[in-house]
Amino acid sequence: MTPPASPRRLLVRDLAQLATPAGRGAPLRGGSLADVAVLEDAYLLVHGDTLEAVGRMRELPALGGDVAELDGRGLCAIPGLVDCHAHPAFAGDRVDEFALRAGGASYEELHAAGGGIRATVAKTRAAGREGVAAAVERHRRWMLRHGTTTWEGKSGYGLDRETELASLRAVRDAGGVPTWLGAHAVPPEFDDGDAYLDWALAEVLPEAAPIAESADVFLEKGAFDAAQARRYLQASARAGLALRLHGDQFTEAGAVPLALEIGARSVDHLEATGAGGVRALAASDVVGVLLPASALFLGRPMPPARALVEAGAAIALATDFNPGSAFCESLPLVCSLAATQLRMSPAEALTACTVNAAHVLGRAARVGRLAPGYAADAVLLDAPDWRYLAYHLGGEVVHTVLVAGEPVRIR
Ligand SMILES: [Zn+2]
Repeated sequence: MTPPASPRRLLVRDLAQLATPAGRGAPLRGGSLADVAVLEDAYLLVHGDTLEAVGRMRELPALGGDVAELDGRGLCAIPGLVDCHAHPAFAGDRVDEFALRAGGASYEELHAAGGGIRATVAKTRAAGREGVAAAVERHRRWMLRHGTTTWEGKSGYGLDRETELASLRAVRDAGGVPTWLGAHAVPPEFDDGDAYLDWALAEVLPEAAPIAESADVFLEKGAFDAAQARRYLQASARAGLALRLHGDQFTEAGAVPLALEIGARSVDHLEATGAGGVRALAASDVVGVLLPASALFLGRPMPPARALVEAGAAIALATDFNPGSAFCESLPLVCSLAATQLRMSPAEALTACTVNAAHVLGRAARVGRLAPGYAADAVLLDAPDWRYLAYHLGGEVVHTVLVAGEPVRIR
């Protein structure tokens, strides 16, 4: 009898730098967001799908047995990036709407041209189960090219039973973290939000809950109000789901108080959050997820990142990848926007899209740091300094991605 082969070991050696959020717990808040440990002339040792050790080359112990090697000269290692707010389960695009908006069209003109969430709902329903799965897989590959190894996938472009469940399964089967965004918009076959939610909570939630990990709602004028959001999220919590909210994107409509009241994991967007909301979030365990690519794409004000950090809040960064308001899957670009538009340091940005984002997805015990026992997910940046992650605006910074210990060469 041959003994089972032991998991393979991989040594990534001679890295210019290795940078990782320091410490252990999550989420990091306030001043501790900037607490990033940097090792010069470093190595990273992988055993199977787990990190065995990281350290400086001069302290590398003698390694017995079979160890594959990867030359890290000229590269910097950071944890695999975590996109904790993304909408990859859609078919088609909204490029016509984008071009009209870029040309100055009004909201009414876009609506008349068939734009908005409902346009994507129609295309996603028409794509069917296989079409949705193919779209999610395509978008997963786009994210990987930018260093994203852990990602959320929201439903919400089906809004019927079959397409919502197909979206959640497609995300799960592609390795993502599924979130049921059943309350994204009121679909065309319903006259009002309450009637739609009655139906969705009775007919979709029981089958969505075993697949999804969280539930999310778009709390905004024209979408769902605070009372509807509370009802939807409370029912989802009873079904075992963690809670998320899209809130304060255009107006303060009660998302932050509701997130605190119901113990949500996060409230996301916050472009319109005022001083009271900042103070309330900072005094809570709710993570503020900031989406600067969305604010940039729509030409909207940026969220109050500096005020949140200085008040002691826990914040995360994500792409909001979607076809209408943020057609951007790149977390390195989001880190550049954090540094240039949100006045966050590269260290704060790194923490926000690694360990804090992993916390939002319930993965922080194993994802978001380069430390022994964590998942062997890492990005090797084609850069002499890890801060090129934020510094190289729109640059092709990702050289190789380690996914569960397997190196994937990107460029
Ligand atoms: Zn979103």
